[in-house]
Amino acid sequence: MRTGYYPGTFDPITYGHLDIISRAAKLFDKLYVSVSYNPIKNPLFTTEERVALVKEVMKDIPNIEVVESNMLTVEHCKILGADHIVRGLRAVTDYDYEFQLTNINREINPEVDTVFFMTQGKYSFLSSSSVRELAQFGGDVSSMVPDVVKEAIDRKFKKH
Ligand code: ADP
Repeated sequence: MRTGYYPGTFDPITYGHLDIISRAAKLFDKLYVSVSYNPIKNPLFTTEERVALVKEVMKDIPNIEVVESNMLTVEHCKILGADHIVRGLRAVTDYDYEFQLTNINREINPEVDTVFFMTQGKYSFLSSSSVRELAQFGGDVSSMVPDVVKEAIDRKFKKH
C-alpha cells in the first residue's frame, strides 16, 4: 500500500492546496493531510479551526485522512506508515526552502522520500499569507479559497 503525507500549516487551506491534494490522492492509496500546530507562525486560525476547514473541504475524497501534528514530519510518517512526503511547488522561490527541507528529512529518515507536485499556473501566486493579507483589508478572496473558508475568514474579520 502506497501512503502519502502532505504537511502544511493550511492557515487557511486555499485552492492551491486543494489542487495538490486532489492530484496526490490519485497517486496514493491513502493520503494523510497533516495540519501542523506551528506556533511560530502565529496563525490566524487555531489548529482545531484549520483541521475542521480542511476536513470540510476534503470530505468528498475518500482516501484522505486529515490529521494534526506537533512533531517532526518524518517521525509522524513513521508512526502512520507513510512512505512519501508530498509538497507543492510554485515559483522558483519555493525551491531553496523545499530543497533544504527535503535534505533534512532525508537525513533523519532516508526511507521516507519527498515528491513534488508543480502547481497549475493559475495558482502559482496563491498563498495562505496573501489570502490573509487581502482579507484583512476587506479584499475579495472568493477566487482563492472555497466558500466555506471564505465564510470562516469573514467571521474572523467580523464581516457578519
Ligand atoms: P508551510 O507552512 O510549510 O509553508 P503551507 O500550508 O503554506 O505550508 O503549504 C504546504 C505545502 O503546500 C507547501 O509545499 C507549499 O509549497 C504548498 N503550496 C502552498 N500553496 C500552494 C499553491 N498555490 N500551489 C501549489 N502548492 C502550494
